[in-house]
Amino acid sequence: MKPYSNDYLTNLNPATGRETSQIPNSNSDDVEMAVNAARNALPKWRELDIKIRIEWLRKIASALESKKEYIANIESMDTGKPINLARRVDATRSITNFEFFADYASELPELKFEMQDATNYVVRKPVGVVGLITPWNLPLYLLTWKIAPALVMGNTIVAKPSELTPLTANALAEILKEINFPKGVFNLVHGLGIDAGQAIIEHPMIKAISFTGGTATGKIVARTAATMFKKLSLELGGKNSTVIFHDADLKVAASGAAKAAFTNSGQVCLCGSRILIDSRIYEKFVTLFIKEVSSLKVGDPSLEDTEIGSVISHQHLEKVMSYVELAKQDGGVIIHGGEIMNMQSDKLTSGAFINPTVIENLPIDSKCATEEIFGPVVTLHRFDNEKQALAMTNNTEYGLAGSVWTTDVKRGREFAEQIESGVLWVNTWLYRDLRTPFGGVKNSGIGREGGMWSLNFFSELSNICVKDE
Ligand code: NDP
Repeated sequence: MKPYSNDYLTNLNPATGRETSQIPNSNSDDVEMAVNAARNALPKWRELDIKIRIEWLRKIASALESKKEYIANIESMDTGKPINLARRVDATRSITNFEFFADYASELPELKFEMQDATNYVVRKPVGVVGLITPWNLPLYLLTWKIAPALVMGNTIVAKPSELTPLTANALAEILKEINFPKGVFNLVHGLGIDAGQAIIEHPMIKAISFTGGTATGKIVARTAATMFKKLSLELGGKNSTVIFHDADLKVAASGAAKAAFTNSGQVCLCGSRILIDSRIYEKFVTLFIKEVSSLKVGDPSLEDTEIGSVISHQHLEKVMSYVELAKQDGGVIIHGGEIMNMQSDKLTSGAFINPTVIENLPIDSKCATEEIFGPVVTLHRFDNEKQALAMTNNTEYGLAGSVWTTDVKRGREFAEQIESGVLWVNTWLYRDLRTPFGGVKNSGIGREGGMWSLNFFSELSNICVKDE
């Protein structure tokens, strides 16, 4: 749809530098129109029997399934991520998000609390029009993770994806049209965060904001939305540790740590971007780890065997490389990568590729070891005992995730419990059960998503206490 501004933004494929599309540069007038559509659609949608909304979720999942390969392709083009990752993670999970919340909502237990002479009935109601704002690293995956619970609980939506990765959100809107999804229930606004995004968080008729993105942007969102008493869910940045104990299966740990560091070019909020290693096995682990990293195939995202694609943009590449320079100044020693990759093929010469970078010898409180770089860069640090490892793990402003590697799973679990983070793994990484709570503490966010937590966020609960006759 034509934006009020009549202005468009150029969308590039970061692996080739070529233009993929022009997207509307929407402003507050476009947001106003989207909110009006969402408000008009709200009464009918919220009054539908939840079973019918569940059916709609299933129809969306199956429509997405029929276009799965197309979704994977455009996600790979938009982000520069390898096609096999876009298929296996992004496209698959986007479908699963709808299937999961359809199943989960269909088994919602009645909430009832009996007293001696009265019964409390808890009623769920939709919040109303909700605003969903998402980043560029897992575009459709993160957007559908919010859309599915919002829809099933009876809300209508105004959504803004990152302007760097608009294609799959757009495809979803097209799919909804094709399956005759009720008009006005889902409204997509493309554009910049400072214009369209800001207009969404400021709009008085938008009653809840679910935001995933950087901590700095999260502060702006919170500042605006909190004073308007909007419901607020913030999923923000992270600086997560991968902790390797001396008794870990080092081969498994090295492979897991490499996956945690470099999946999606390190552009996953849960990535383990610093590895803390028991001094006793440091050298042995690092040899195995470097072997894993060297074997990663960096290259053309459209090829099936590529494991690491480009980063999201040249601007982001500059940011990541500035951290590598900073590491050198702080005494860091680069033992793998550390440079921009100039790809040989004509197709990729303008792409934004960075060789997976491993840095050792940096102080644990240096900028590279405490700030979120969000790229293919990992720092290695030694520890001598558990107490020290724990202090090192917790020494950042963030508290999103972490993983612990040990053959003593009881000890691993006890250690994980002491980490100030919301999402922790022992001997695995990125393994998810969608019923579990997901979210961060400290500057990594407010609130939890997943299962019941998502349904609670996208509904208002009223308690009705009925006195026995
Ligand atoms: P940003 O915070 O820059 O952007 C996120 C979204 O917010 C984008 O759609 C952006 O639009 C929009 N936005 C920007 N400014 C405003 C504003 N003033 N008002 C409203 N919306 C605004 O994050 P990135 O896109 O760079 O994503 C990377 C970050 O996301 C990392 O920090 C990462 O850790 C975090 N993240 C967290 C996750 C979690 O679950 N905790 C999961 C995935 C990522 P535009 O693109 O136009 O600026």
